[in-house]
Amino acid sequence: MALLDVENLGVRYERRDAPPVTVVHDVSFTLEAGGTLGIVGESGSGKSQTVTALLGLLAANGRAHGRACLRGEDLLAMSPAVLNRIRGDRIAMIFQDPMTSLNPFLTIERQMTEGLQLHRNVTRRDARRRAIEALERVRIPDAARRIAMYPHEFSGGMRQRVLIAAALMMEPDVLIADEPTTALDVTVQAQIMALLSEMNRERGTAILLITHDMGVVAELCEDVMVMYAGRAVEKAPASALFAQPRHPYTGGLLGALPRLDTPRGARLRTIAGNPPLPGGEGPGCAFAPRCAFAFERCRTHTPPFHADGMRSHACHLTTLPAQPDRPIQPGDAEIPLPSSGARA
Ligand code: SF4
Repeated sequence: MALLDVENLGVRYERRDAPPVTVVHDVSFTLEAGGTLGIVGESGSGKSQTVTALLGLLAANGRAHGRACLRGEDLLAMSPAVLNRIRGDRIAMIFQDPMTSLNPFLTIERQMTEGLQLHRNVTRRDARRRAIEALERVRIPDAARRIAMYPHEFSGGMRQRVLIAAALMMEPDVLIADEPTTALDVTVQAQIMALLSEMNRERGTAILLITHDMGVVAELCEDVMVMYAGRAVEKAPASALFAQPRHPYTGGLLGALPRLDTPRGARLRTIAGNPPLPGGEGPGCAFAPRCAFAFERCRTHTPPFHADGMRSHACHLTTLPAQPDRPIQPGDAEIPLPSSGARA
């Protein structure tokens, strides 16, 4: 049995003066014990909404449906009281913004020890000792003194390390890290990634990494799920996905990565256009307005999921044609499509 088994997860928001809007559609994935899964996609692709729904932290007008089982227990069917016992204990989350994820009115000690005292029934003195050890593990200098400080006395990188330390000391089965390196400089990014990797390697913590940065995924994740417009469009082991993407959106994301061998003065490749607003997708494939390979069927029929061993992708094409070495444009006529047999 997978440690975390998510099946047909959907998220919908009720609106007072407008019809409900669905921001996540039928997303399914599994995370094995000790595994690492990266969920990637642009802003608004539904990555954060997917994991927020798992933890029961959607806004008041949000509704999640489907199944999300942690060791066989459905998180979506739990009462708030039961979910509260699991959250922060067996499943922990590092939120996106280290500058706002800590309470400015409480000391680091109070914020770090609260979970331990609540979930593990340890004394305040013991909780403090374990919090200091966790801060030392994430290389906060002079941790015994700094634990009494307030968040504003820490830099952004140090606050992110405090959040990781707080998650680490609970030794969760699953750690969800939502853009843990956004807004941090590259040296701090490298430290944070090394810490996550250490947690996974030495403690067997399963990691669900949410990011828009393919480089971060390549560094940490065994498996990848690419999301676009609230849907999973490609799932594969990271090595296979990086070697040969099968969905045009994945190909576009990888093609847009800057490369060291790019000739001086050459334009970076981009994916023209913008993702649709939630609820603004037309019929057919949501990526069609931006896709270089779109053809008539793409605009009228939702693409099927092709499953092939450990891989799957949702597209009317079964393989990805070669992409040009320049910005990709919608309806790019110069890109040869594969033989007609590749069309669904
Ligand atoms: Fe492009 Fe069509 Fe595939 Fe969508 S279904 S990604 S529009 S080729």
